[in-house]
Amino acid sequence: MTLTCTKTYFDVPFAHRQHLHDGHCSFVHGHNWDIRVTFGCERTDENGFVVDFGKLKFLKAWIEENLDHACALSRGDPLARKLVAAAPEAWKVYYCDECSCEGLARELFGVFDALVRRETGSRAFVVSVEVSEDKKNSAAFSR
Ligand SMILES: [Zn+2]
Repeated sequence: MTLTCTKTYFDVPFAHRQHLHDGHCSFVHGHNWDIRVTFGCERTDENGFVVDFGKLKFLKAWIEENLDHACALSRGDPLARKLVAAAPEAWKVYYCDECSCEGLARELFGVFDALVRRETGSRAFVVSVEVSEDKKNSAAFSR
């Protein structure tokens, strides 16, 4: 039995590029992403919360530091280093295994789960992360 609660970070602006795509997704382009995080626990805190929404500033700070106005690039993108090296001051890059919607959901799951476990002494954890690039398209990763 796992209790859950959910928080959504709306309109996080960042870019990405699908370097293997045979269409327009291979161009660097941006979205205002929504990141929906579902938390779980086996036992609640002293307030009866899965996580205290007021004490999740570390997640917001991580998003602002790493994704806000960044460009997510896949480590395997053969042009990534070349693009950034051409004008390093123009880029805030977040390198990940795969910067597709699906890849970002998996990536953020790993990052957020580790942060939540650290902050709660492993009392709480992340159950799923859903990433939406717009109103129509999203992907999720869950344990
Ligand atoms: Zn896109």
